[in-house]
Amino acid sequence: MSLNHVRPWRNIYRRKSRQIMVGDVPVGGDAPIAVQTMTNTLTTDVAATVAQVQAAAEAGADIVRVSVPDEASSKALKDIVRESPVPIVADIHFHYRRGIEAAEAGAACLRINPGNIGDEKRVKEVINAAKDHNCSIRIGVNAGSLEKHLLEKYGEPCPDAMVESGLEHIRILQDNDFHNFKISVKASDVFLSAAAYQGIAEATDAPIHLGITEAGGLVSGTIKSAIGLGNLLWMGIGDTIRVSLSADPVEEVKVGFEILKSLGLRHRGVNIISCPSCARQGFDVIKTVEALEHRLEHIKTPMSLSIIGCVVNGPGEALMTDVGFTGGGAGSGMVYLAGKASHKMSNDQMIDHIVEEVEKKAAELDAVQEAAE
Ligand code: SF4
Repeated sequence: MSLNHVRPWRNIYRRKSRQIMVGDVPVGGDAPIAVQTMTNTLTTDVAATVAQVQAAAEAGADIVRVSVPDEASSKALKDIVRESPVPIVADIHFHYRRGIEAAEAGAACLRINPGNIGDEKRVKEVINAAKDHNCSIRIGVNAGSLEKHLLEKYGEPCPDAMVESGLEHIRILQDNDFHNFKISVKASDVFLSAAAYQGIAEATDAPIHLGITEAGGLVSGTIKSAIGLGNLLWMGIGDTIRVSLSADPVEEVKVGFEILKSLGLRHRGVNIISCPSCARQGFDVIKTVEALEHRLEHIKTPMSLSIIGCVVNGPGEALMTDVGFTGGGAGSGMVYLAGKASHKMSNDQMIDHIVEEVEKKAAELDAVQEAAE
C-alpha cells in the first residue's frame, strides 16, 4: 500500500504474496515492484549482451532476462552473469539440459515451464539443479503456447485454461518440494491477460510477474501495457513487471518505471510535469521538455519538475514540485524552488539553469536521505 493517509483515494492495497529472491532482488511480499527487461542480442555475443544488460540496469532495470536456446548460450551465460550488475534470468524453452546448465552458470532464475520439459526424471533434475544453485523459477504461462489437453478441454485460450495451466505447473514444483517460484500468465490480448492474472492471483500466493506479451511497438505497446498492467497494478496485483516492446530494452525499462511512477508504486528520477503548450506559451515548451528529458536522464533521485508555458497553470503546478519554470513575457520566465517563486531567468539560458537547479536539489535530497539512513 502506498502510505498516503492524507489522500486515501490514492492508496493501492497490494495483494499479499509470499516473497522469493531472484539473486539479491526480493520479489513479492512488501518488496518494491521489480522492473525487468530482456536482451535481444545473440546470447553467444557476450560483449553485446553485457552492454545491453548494463544499459538496461543503468536505466533502472532490477532484473534482466537472457534467452538460452542452445549449449553455446549456456556457456556464454556464465560470463554474462559474472559481468552483470543485476540478477540474470535464463529463458528456457522445452530443453531440460539448458535449465540445468543455466542454473550451473549462475542464473538467478529460470523461466521454464516444468510441465513442458519432459518426464518426471528430467523435471526432477532441473529442480534439483535450481535447488543446488539457489536459483528461483518463473513459471511462464502464455496464451499462445497452452498445453494441447487444455486447448481441447476449453476450445481456445481463455482465462480458465491459463489459470489451470499455471496451477498444473505449480503442482509439479510443489510436489518436488520447490517453493522458490513466481508465475506469469501472459497474453497479447489485454482482456485475456487481465482476467487470467486476476484468476491466478486468487488461486495462489506466489509472487506474480506481470506482462502483456508481444504488446507491439513503442507507442502502441506502451499504451497496451499501461492499460493492461496499469489496471492490474491498480488492483494490487503484480510483484514484478516486464513491458514487452518491439524496441530497445532500455525503452521497456523506462515505460515500466513510468507505469509504476504514475501509480505512485515506485519513484525514480525526475518526474516532469509539463503542459501541452498553446499560443499563450512564453517559450517553446515541447522542445524544452525534450531537451530536459535527455539532459536529466542521469538523475536517479525521485523528484519533480514543472515546465509550464504560462501563468495560467504555471504557479499552481510549481507549488507542488521541487523545481519549476513558468513562462512569462519578454523572453524570460520565473524559476520556482520548493513551490515558491525564486528568481527570473531568460529563456535562452533556462535549460542549462534548470539542469543546474535540478542537480543541486537532487544532491540536497540525497544528503537528507543519507542522513536518515
Ligand atoms: S499552461 Fe499556458 S501555455 Fe501551457 S497549455 Fe495552458 S494556457 Fe497554454
